[in-house]
Parts: sequence; structure tokens; C-alpha cells
Amino acid sequence: MSEEKKLTTASGIPYYHHEDTMSAGARGPLLLQDFILHEKMAHFNRERIPERVVHAKGSAAYGTFIVTHDITKYTRAKLFSQVGKKTKMFLRFSTVGGEKGSADTERDPRGFAIKFYTEEGNWDLVGNNTPIFFIKDPKKFSDFIHTQKRDPYTNCKSPTMMWDFWSLNPESLHQVMFLMSDRGTPYGYRHMHGFGSHTFSLINDKNEQVWVKFHFKSAQGIKNFVNDEAVKMKGEDPDFAQRDLVNAIESGDFPKWYLKIQVMTMEQAKNYRFNPFDLTKTWSQKEFPLIDVGIMELNENPRNYFAEVEQAAFAPAHVVDGISYSPDKMLQGRLLSYPDAHRYRLGANYEQIPVNKCPYAINNYERDGFMRVDGNAGANPNYYPNSFDNIKPDEKYKGLPIELDTNIADWYDRNGQGENDHYTQPGIFYREVLSDYDKKNLVSNIVGAMSGIAGPKKNEIVNRQLCHFFRADIGLGMAIAQGLGVNVEQAMPKQHDKQPVTV
Ligand code: NDP
Repeated sequence: MSEEKKLTTASGIPYYHHEDTMSAGARGPLLLQDFILHEKMAHFNRERIPERVVHAKGSAAYGTFIVTHDITKYTRAKLFSQVGKKTKMFLRFSTVGGEKGSADTERDPRGFAIKFYTEEGNWDLVGNNTPIFFIKDPKKFSDFIHTQKRDPYTNCKSPTMMWDFWSLNPESLHQVMFLMSDRGTPYGYRHMHGFGSHTFSLINDKNEQVWVKFHFKSAQGIKNFVNDEAVKMKGEDPDFAQRDLVNAIESGDFPKWYLKIQVMTMEQAKNYRFNPFDLTKTWSQKEFPLIDVGIMELNENPRNYFAEVEQAAFAPAHVVDGISYSPDKMLQGRLLSYPDAHRYRLGANYEQIPVNKCPYAINNYERDGFMRVDGNAGANPNYYPNSFDNIKPDEKYKGLPIELDTNIADWYDRNGQGENDHYTQPGIFYREVLSDYDKKNLVSNIVGAMSGIAGPKKNEIVNRQLCHFFRADIGLGMAIAQGLGVNVEQAMPKQHDKQPVTV
């Protein structure tokens, strides 16, 4: 038994009456002067902070990243500086569309957000368990997310909204097929891969830059629920993934992922048949093979969920020297929007919350604001330049110029193959990656999900989406049409796509 402690108010005043409010006589009424009642109630009333608008339900753990292979020819980032180097990290998994109390086994992508506490600042790699995403322009993001949330009238999830949006945005097809495969319902968080998803860049000590994709391969292997199991688990244990992660770490069964990268040179990017910065597409691993980098192990459960997991804040903008952005429009859109969300949810000083705080030196002139609790840099000058302190911007961190080659810069207007080809990669995925078993489940999951489409636009939405599946693969389109009981001959001619579809 630990040493006995006195009960106190938040201001440290010891008190006795914890369960009985001061009252005028034994039966009341209550006295206004019992401020402890008000303190308890008022604090309780303020316990909830704004829920993340996406990725609200999450689980996280601390761990260690260890370099196993030398990639210094690509990057000078300190965390990769030598084989054997260890860096503390924090990884938060999540579902995307559901609220904070929603079930862990919902069909949904999974967030895979990592904070590496490097000596040159915190590097946040904020990705998913898929290498791609539903859209490639951030202006569509809020519209897309609305379709994954609740219908404004019924306040229920709406397959009609989801498929309406997807069918009107064919670039979503690739990710829709990942989502509808059994990888859309992973068996907890330990048995799935993670991806940085966006294209980033690496810069070495000669200032040479390459484009890069980050892959985290689960050492536990892939394991998924089939649809019926996932649905059943929603009722049996809506916190399945949270419990699975905490228990595994608690029992010393530390989950691990192998970090691998794909590298593309600037020249290769100019000539690649797809836009290498398009988040709805992958880089073929046959042409850009995975390169081993290191191993990440989760080995410590957070002690307090709210303090460490709910208040964790990741921002793709937070890259460290040796790692940089790419023109990926979705990445560019996220650079400003993530810190904006954190300032709204946690306040301007969110980076001082211990889980978010860089454990190394922070020297700047940002001051004040709500909940500034770290001493606010004391009596040090709060402006730059000044004649008093010794804080200097180091030229070694000077940014590199970005080449605005037309092949990179004109993607906005490009309508040719590679940019608006939304079907080649989903077709390859279906034909060459999925096993017969995976294909069968994919079709049955899609048929199940599309069967929820309802209302006066039902046929229009179903036919439009079917058209996309046909364009990816005729066999896939036929199987889904059959499952839905759609007469293909009648349904096909009136599509919104300009190109006619022959079946
Ligand atoms: P490869 O055959 O070299 O790679 C196929 C990739 O698919 C591997 O990363 C494999 O890794 C992954 N995979 C296998 N089964 C599934 C599944 N059921 N769901 C999702 N991913 C799976 O081919 P390419 O690189 O040329 O890519 C072909 C297609 O594979 C792409 O069009 C894309 O649809 C898909 N894919 C590509 C990835 C990439 O980064 N290139 C990554 C993931 C998928 P593993 O079995 O370890 O998951």
C-alpha cells in the first residue's frame, strides 16, 4: 500500500466533505458557499474537448524505431544517420469516419499516425493502412467526409450518400476496392500495414533530392475479419482493437513493423506514366522496389488515455531536416489544415502537451496564449532580431529550391493518360493482386454495401458506380451487377462518363 495522501481541492486545500454537500439542515437546501461542489461539477461539465472530426476513435502506444539498413545516400535525417540508431516514437491508430464511441471493426480505412521524437525535432508521418486515398484534391475532402458521417436528416449513416459521392468521383475507385476488400476490416491494429501514403522527398548531405514513399509492413502478418465476423464483433466488443493492442503490449508481445521505402529520382518522376504525386495511385513495386530501412516496435502503453492519446496531435507539415514535402495536392492541403485542427481542438499551445512536446531544445519567439504552462520562456526576449539572446537561424537548414518543371507544375490541367486514368491500377489490383478468395469476398462486400443505396436516385447511383467497376475489370463489373440483380444490357448506356462502356 502506498503512503496515505490527503484529499485536496484543485488548489491544494485539504478537505473532508467529499460526498456530502454543505446544506441548511440535514435535508437541505444546499449552501452556495460549498465551492467544492461547484468545482467538481464545473470541471466535470468541461471534461470533453472537441472530438476529432475524422479519426475520432483511436488507440496508441509508445515504442522504438531502430535503423537496420543504411539509407544515408538518400537522406541526412538524423534518425536514419546510422545503423542501430534508436528513436523513441508514438503511434496512434484509428478508424476514420466513426465517432469516439464507434466500433473498432467498422469497415473503414485505419489511421496510422507516427510521431518520431528525433533530436532535430518531432517528425510526424500521418498516414493510413492504405497506400492510397479516395480523392486527390483537398478541396473535395470536407464533402467526402460528410458522406462518411451522418445524413443531416435521418442522422444515420447513409450508403446512398457514400456511393453517390464515390460514383461521381471515379478517382475513388482504387481506394473503394481496398476498402471493400477484407483489408477494410483488419483484425485489430497489429495485423495491418501502415503507409505514409503521400509522396514525400528525401534530401542527403549533398543536397540531392529524391521522391519517396514510406511503407510499414506488419511483422505480425496480415489478418482480417471477413465481413460477418466484423459485424458480429461490433456487438461483442466494440473496443476490440484497443483491447487487443493494450493486452498485447501489457503481456510483452510487442508488435513490430518493418519500415521500407520506395525511391524515385526526379528524372524518373518526370517520365513516369502516372502522376507520382497522385494520392489515388501507387508506384509499382516492380519498378520501384521496396528498400529496407528499419524496424519499429511498440512496447509501452500510455498511462492515461486522455492525456496521451486524446491529446496527441500529429501534423504532416512537421518534417525534419533531410525529409521534405512533394507537390502531392492532398499533402499540400493537409500541411496547414492539421495544425489548424489542433489549435481549434487543443489550443495554440498544443505542442507543449507532453505527448506532443519535443523532448529536445525549443527556441523561438512564440509566446502567451491559452494554457501556456511551460514558463513561457521566462524573461528571455520575445522578439527577433534582438541584441540579448544567442538564438540564431542555422544556415544548414536552408530550404532547397523546388524545380517547377512543367511536367510537375501542370498536373492541374493535364487531362491525358496517367492523370485521369482511374481504372488501370484498380484493374491490376483486382486481376493480379487479389486471390480468388479475396475476389469473392470483395464482390460480396461491395454487393452488401451497395444494397443499402436507397431513394429516388438509387438506379442512377448504382448504374454509375457499376460503370466504374466495369471499366476496371469486366468480370468484376459482371459479378457485382449479378449480385445486385442489375440487368447490364439495360443499365449501361446512360453513364455520366464521356467514354462509352462496352460490356
Ligand atoms: P506488386 O505485385 O509488386 O505489389 C502488390 C502489392 O499489393 C504488395 O505490396 C502486396 O503487399 C499488396 N497486396 C497483396 N494483397 C493485397 C490485398 N489484398 N490488398 C491490398 N494490397 C495487397 O505490384 P505493384 O506494385 O505493381 O502493384 C499492383 C497493384 O497492387 C497496385 O495497382 C495496387 O492496387 C496494389 N498495391 C500496390 C502497392 C504499392 O505500393 N505498389 C501497395 C499495396 C497494394 P502485401 O501482401 O504485403 O500487402
